Amino acid sequence: MNGDGGDGSPYRRLIALEVKGREGAEPPAAAQARASGVPPDSLERWLLAILETWRDANADSLVEPWDWYYETGKTSRALSPLISRERLSELNQAVYQALGADLEALRVHYDLDPRAGKTPVAFATFGGRAPIESWIFATYRAGGLDNLNELLHETGHAAHIAAIRTRPAFTDWPDSDPFTEAVADFVALDVYEPAWQQHWLGDSVPLADGLRARYGGIVLDVAWALLEARMQRDPGADPNQVWTGLTRDYLRIRPRPELSWWAMRGQLVDAPGYMMNYAAGAILIAAIRARTKEVHGPFATGDPSWYRWVGPRLFRFGLQRPTREVIEEFLGGPVSPAALLADMRRMRR
Ligand SMILES: [Zn+2]
Repeated sequence: MNGDGGDGSPYRRLIALEVKGREGAEPPAAAQARASGVPPDSLERWLLAILETWRDANADSLVEPWDWYYETGKTSRALSPLISRERLSELNQAVYQALGADLEALRVHYDLDPRAGKTPVAFATFGGRAPIESWIFATYRAGGLDNLNELLHETGHAAHIAAIRTRPAFTDWPDSDPFTEAVADFVALDVYEPAWQQHWLGDSVPLADGLRARYGGIVLDVAWALLEARMQRDPGADPNQVWTGLTRDYLRIRPRPELSWWAMRGQLVDAPGYMMNYAAGAILIAAIRARTKEVHGPFATGDPSWYRWVGPRLFRFGLQRPTREVIEEFLGGPVSPAALLADMRRMRR
């Protein structure tokens, strides 16, 4: 992807072509953010605020990239042994059941076993539309917290589409990718919460470790979104320098400009600019989760009325209403990063 790291590297040529092809039009991710109520002209400032909050909550010394991953992987190492492959599916079913979502009644089907030639990517999709059925494809040879998190996320997509109640022409994914990815994480994000861990796994990690696991992936997504935004503004920039600058200044990761370690997300070449959807989605779901707790009540350890309550307010519309309108109505105002920043600040010791 980065070739010899020079001006003619495949990545720099790709970005230059993408920017030229748009002829001054805004990137698709900006339109997607706007569709979910995230103002594109505030987004970069919000992303920097997220990185600054992470920096303030963590030690100031520089660590090697691999040690950074080791540190954020602490929660998974502690709790994964409690989740066997068998337990993985049982927990997924039980967690949603405790929230009032009976996966069998919602016609959610799973294809989770390894098979030759199967795609390694986990995803959820419509099976049928009248009645709505969904299929989840993933490959699990083992259990563990990371696989459980992913399975809860994919099931989150299924629970979302199973609650769509509208005319057939509108029975589809909504008009915003950040929103769709955000609500898939509604329940999955709780695996990092000590109260959830104690309830479902019988053991837990300290809050700061759980939050470091929750936000470790998110702050990297934010850094990738900023890398893409900066490269799009200046396609001649050296991505190794942009990346090591961002990860040094905010994540306190020792610069390794000789390693193109930013080049490990397929989205960067598959759909340039797409990482912004994950960053915007993280802001949205933090706001949605906080609003739910405030208006309806806590749900981390189960709440049989949760699905019944969320469905008609957030999930039911499909393509019938603009997502932005649905979200602003749910939040009682415009989207802001305040909830995510407040949640992250709980990490401070
Ligand atoms: Zn997803």
